[in-house]
Amino acid sequence: MTSEDWGCGCGPDCFTLDGDGFTCRRVLDAPEVWRVELLMHDTFLPSVNAFVVLDGGEALVVDAGTPDEFNDTRLMRALVRLEVDPGRATLFCTHSHIDHTGLARELALAGARVVVPEGVLSDMRRFAVPSWRDEMVARMRGEGVSAAEARELADVIWDHTSNFELEGVGFSTVAPGSTLRCGRWELEVVPTPGHTPGQCALWEPVTGTAFLGDAVLFLCSTCIGFWGDGEDPIGEQLSTLRRLAGMGISHAFMGHGLQDGDVAERCLANAAHHERRSARALAAIEATPGLCGAELVPAMDWHAPFDRWSETPALTRWFLVSESVAHLDHLVLTGAVRRVRGADGVSRYLPA
Ligand SMILES: [Zn+2]
Ligand SMILES: [Zn+2]
Repeated sequence: MTSEDWGCGCGPDCFTLDGDGFTCRRVLDAPEVWRVELLMHDTFLPSVNAFVVLDGGEALVVDAGTPDEFNDTRLMRALVRLEVDPGRATLFCTHSHIDHTGLARELALAGARVVVPEGVLSDMRRFAVPSWRDEMVARMRGEGVSAAEARELADVIWDHTSNFELEGVGFSTVAPGSTLRCGRWELEVVPTPGHTPGQCALWEPVTGTAFLGDAVLFLCSTCIGFWGDGEDPIGEQLSTLRRLAGMGISHAFMGHGLQDGDVAERCLANAAHHERRSARALAAIEATPGLCGAELVPAMDWHAPFDRWSETPALTRWFLVSESVAHLDHLVLTGAVRRVRGADGVSRYLPA
């Protein structure tokens, strides 16, 4: 079989990766960027992107899909077809979620250099360890979630994070502000905390090209879950969205879906969306002082079937609970509400 056999009718700058419609397609000429669309599991998101930047015989792969036996061959087919020499390729992972790091091992074994931002290594050490599962359970219990549901929700999500050290994937780290080179292009490592604490984008300022991981999506609002005591992921995400809106990004490549409109407008609209959600939480606390976090989840106007909560998939319930708690953390840390822990260990929320 020659490499020509793999192309099948989607155009000169596009080829299929398998028989089910997933493709590798050129999405930008300068820098030359190819989107490899890979199968996604578990969530409502249809797929996850890996991007391949090519220049001067070098390749920069941004994110590495889910760890799946089909995705493994799909990504490798794309790289072979693009004539990427793995020994001259660098994989950069924007964050430590499993849908962005899953095939790092395959790329490393093929000879690619694997690079993550320093903050992503910190996230791996913090979130991809069993103690984080216990912390999540304790936090949800403190918000009034039942013991059984807290364990169920923590179990469904806690291991969706990679830990290259525990998994034995060889890698090195890059500092925020440093640059990665691919041929003539230099891409700056830009922190974009919010979706995770350590997530970073890659930014090519000459062409206004940004690889954003899950910092902002056009498909939906990116998930913001709680971190630890005294941390404000919603506040971090609002700052990130406003910073991205001011960068002059022309070409945005995200972890899921494609750019569909103006990047700055999308970032500001998403920031406004989060602010509306926080405002709804505040209004609910003012209307009924003393509710706990679990009681406030349905008051935040999520598009979710709260009348059929027990039938709702655990992963969906996790996203709703974790982002609601993140909004409560934001309201506490910005001084809008007070959190008072009762003798039963459950926190209640009162207007400031
Ligand atoms: Zn993610
Ligand atoms: Zn993702």
